[in-house]
Order: sequence, then structure tokens, then C-alpha cells
Amino acid sequence: KVRVRFAPSPTGPLHIGGVRTALFNYLFAKKHGGDFVLRIEDTDQNRYVEGAEDYIVKSLVWCGISFDEGPNKNEKFGPYRQSERKNLYKQYADELIANGKAYYAFDTAEQLDAERKGHEADGKTFIYNWHNREKGRLVNSLVLTEAETQAKIEAGDDYVIRFKSPQDETLHLTDIIRGNIKIDTNVLDDKILFKSDGMPTYHLANIVDDHLMEITHVIRGEEWLPSLALHQLLYNAFGWEAPEFAHLPLILKPTGKGKLSKRDGDKMGFPVFPLEYTAPDGTISRGYKEDGYFPEAVVNFLAFLGWNPGTEQELFSLEQLVADFDLARVNKAGARFDPDKTKWFNHQYMQQQLDLDLAEQFKAIRPELADIDVNYIALSIGLIKERATFVNDFWDLSHFFFTAPTAYDEKASKKALKEGTADIMTKVIELVNATDDFTVENLQTNIKGWITDNEIGFGKVMMPLRLALVGALQGPDVFDIMYMIGKTETVNRIEALVK
Ligand code: GLU
Repeated sequence: KVRVRFAPSPTGPLHIGGVRTALFNYLFAKKHGGDFVLRIEDTDQNRYVEGAEDYIVKSLVWCGISFDEGPNKNEKFGPYRQSERKNLYKQYADELIANGKAYYAFDTAEQLDAERKGHEADGKTFIYNWHNREKGRLVNSLVLTEAETQAKIEAGDDYVIRFKSPQDETLHLTDIIRGNIKIDTNVLDDKILFKSDGMPTYHLANIVDDHLMEITHVIRGEEWLPSLALHQLLYNAFGWEAPEFAHLPLILKPTGKGKLSKRDGDKMGFPVFPLEYTAPDGTISRGYKEDGYFPEAVVNFLAFLGWNPGTEQELFSLEQLVADFDLARVNKAGARFDPDKTKWFNHQYMQQQLDLDLAEQFKAIRPELADIDVNYIALSIGLIKERATFVNDFWDLSHFFFTAPTAYDEKASKKALKEGTADIMTKVIELVNATDDFTVENLQTNIKGWITDNEIGFGKVMMPLRLALVGALQGPDVFDIMYMIGKTETVNRIEALVK
């Protein structure tokens, strides 16, 4: 059975890159009838941020990306927070020491720094592996006797457990997206697996948990590709079958140059976080939710960051994504983030929403609408939403359905108000008053009929009429507006213009 996991570290708010990783894991799991697991990788206590886990869960919930197992949910492989699994990892580090795949190292930060500098002075890079570990000044259990090693540990000396990476081997790695990768083990550092504070590092905890949680596919960001060699070696060292790996492409800045960062969003005015986030220092980062995006639109644009269906179709619900998703259609190349495209998606989803739902949202943000019937608001929205991207755009596009103009746009007035306008408008008032059955059709027949019969320029009537109703020369069909606001209000507004 397919089992995948999203394994964020709660070190800050989840950015859209993280949400995309979660989404692709979810899609892959659901496509194959598998399980999607949320695991919180919080072994690095120094980088832990209060509230970050809560933010991650809320973000996934808002996007509709639900997990099958995770903290407080269906905990059959739990706990799902690594800090709560703390006591489980040491035995695995010990196992590697016992079979010679790992060793204790006692080097202090100063010693390591001196090594690094010494190498640099000779024009070399310092790699802590077979090149150095058993000679020179490094202090570890490969050069100490067992008794010396034990004595140091018992004396409470700080130690780490390092993985003993192999010498002169070529590793053959496979990535579903990238194909075969060859790695020369001589470039690999002996990475730290465990620290004397009792905590495993990411590498050890990650492998142990993926194994214990029976993860079959690891789908994660490209930034983890350099860790793949070590992870494969760890699986080999434990004698475990490794999951399959898929490293998702980077998300690039709108310019296409370099990785998308939080600062790009601040500079160019788009969010990079699903939800608004207040950092412990009080700074606020914008969120897609608060900026007025529909979660369906966010999910849809995230799906296209690195994946495409191979057809022209762009609009996909979550269910359709599940049906069509395929890791074989995920690109290696970085995916350019396009904020305008994101807006386009939102506009598309706006058109699919029920006007009544939109009316509720609109009502919630405009105090002017407090006493107005929601059905009337919904009808108004139906007439303008094809020009809206956000619920926030509604007021500018529809205020004339709710309030009479208090001023007339200057340029529009110049264009619309001519000699004779007052007489024409007086006649229009008569026509409006005479339209007993006040429907769009009747208004249209009466007013348009009168214009043609009298061979008056269309603009001479329609422009001032629109100005009277809207205050400007924009807006939906004039007859729709008249019908919506009703006979009395229509007459009042025309009178107000020409009086
Ligand atoms: N905790 C890692 C992260 O923050 C997980 C990487 C992985 O998926 O292996 O992204």
C-alpha cells in the first residue's frame, strides 16, 4: 500500500513551496488509494517556533489537503511528533555503532574550525570522512581505544555520532523525477546522526521514522536531493528497504532567476504564505486566505508549479487533480512562480462560486450592506462578477446597486453632458414612469424604441443615463441597473443629474 508523508519542521510558517510538497504527496497518495501522513520533525529545539505546527495544520485544512494520520489523528504509527519519539532513536544510532557503520566523535567546535581553516590555507576543502578521520587531530572512536571512548562518554564529554561514509565507492541512486544519479562517496561528509543532548539529527530521525511508519515514497523539495546519498546509505546500513524518492523542482521567482523567497512577495506585493502569519517579533506576513484567494484557486495554481496534465486544461478541482496527477509528469526544471496567473485562477474560481455564497462574503466585509437583502446582493454580484478577481473588488464594481452616486466622474461628465441632455433626460424619466411592468425587456423596448423613432444618437441618451445611475461611464448594462434599483430610485437619480 502506498504511504507517503509530509514532514515539515516547525521552524516558521509554511510557505507555498511547503504547501506544494504537501499537495503533491496528497495527490499521489489519493491517486494510488494510499495514506498521507503528517509528521512533525521537531528535533532541532533551537529552531523550534511556537505556533508553527498549528499554522501548518490550519494551512492544510484551509487548502483542503487532509491527512490520514498525524498528531491527534488516527495515530496507528504514532506519535507523529519526533520530539515525542525522542527515546526511540538512540538504539538505532547504537546499532550502527555496534556494526561499525557509525562512530563517536568528540571534536569541539574550535577543533573543527581549526581543521577547516588549515585545509583552506592549503587550498583544500575539509571533509570529515576517511580523508581525515583516522589521522591528524580529529578525536573519535576510530582512533581512540574502546576504553578511552567509554571513559570520555562517562566523563560527560560532548560527543556526536557520525555516519561512517564509505571510501571509493560509486553510489547509484534513483529518483522518480530525475532518473539515475551517480555519486562518488569520497565527496560525502560523515554526517552527524546523533548528539549528546539525546537528540537525533534530521537524517537519522527521518530515516528511522520513514522506515517505522512504512513510508513507500518520499516526495520532497529539491533542496533535499544532496541528502539522498546519505539516506540511501543509511537504509543500506540498517539493512532496510529504501522507499522510492521523488525530488520536486524548485519554485523560482517571477523573473525566473533564483529561488522564490519571502522577500520577493513583500517587494512585489503578493503573498508567499497560505495564511497570514504574525512572527514572534510582531511582523506580519500576508496570506492568500486574507488576500481574498479561494483555496481551490491556490491548490490549482500550486499543482501547476512543476506539474502539468499534458493537455490544454488548466482548471482542476482537487478531485480532478487526484485523478490526473502523475509523478512522471513532474518536471526537473525549476517552476516559475507567476503572481498574475494566480490571480487568473482566482478570477476563474470566482465565476464558479454561487452568487449567494459570494453575497454572504461580500456582506461580511461591507458595513453598507448590513440591512440589504442577501438575495438582492447576490443578483448584483451576478451582474458584475465577470470583472472581479476578489470579493474585495465587488464594492467598486457594484456600489451603485446599493447607493446613489454622490459625485459624478469629471471626465465622464464632460463626455456625457451636452446641450440638450436635460431635455432628453426629462423624456427618459417620462418613459421610465410609463413603464408599468418594470422589466429589463420593457425598459429596453421603450427607451431604445424611442431613440430609434426619434433618430437621436444612442450615446446622447445612454451616456448621461449611465452617468446618472452609476456616477461614471462604467458598469453593467444600464437596463439591468434600472431594473435592479427600481423605478423610483431610477427616476430620482436621473432627476439628481439634470436638476
Ligand atoms: N523536515 C524536513 C523539512 O523540513 C523534511 C524533509 C524530507 O521530507 O525528508 O522539509
